[in-house]
Amino acid sequence: MSDKTIFEMIIDREIPADIVYEDDICICFHDIAPQAPTHLLVVPKKRIVRIADASIEDQATLGHLLLTAQKVAQQEGISESGFRTVINNGKDGGEAVPHLHLHILAGRQMLWPPG
Ligand code: C5P
Repeated sequence: MSDKTIFEMIIDREIPADIVYEDDICICFHDIAPQAPTHLLVVPKKRIVRIADASIEDQATLGHLLLTAQKVAQQEGISESGFRTVINNGKDGGEAVPHLHLHILAGRQMLWPPG
């Protein structure tokens, strides 16, 4: 595996982030360049590079990310009005950081299809 990703540096508290939730499996913090009034990232502590590289051993972790999104949405008060979850995978998917992360976007009307 290559050098630490920016998200591993956040997990290890080597660079700052506005963290709203953390447990043994994942961490959740505000995106540094928000694309909506609320824009959070849920990141597994284990470095799964992207969905395309996940394996059956990651099944519980992947499920945990979604249930964490549910929990954080309730915590941040966006559950009732609604929110969008996004995982960008690879070049055409718009992935910038090669460490799996689930975006949570809320606080405005989302459009479909996404850009
Ligand atoms: O899905 P994608 O890889 O494009 O998303 C990466 C996200 O990580 C971006 O939304 C970017 O703003 C965010 N980011 C962050 N803090 C950093 C570096 C990137 O929130 N220090």
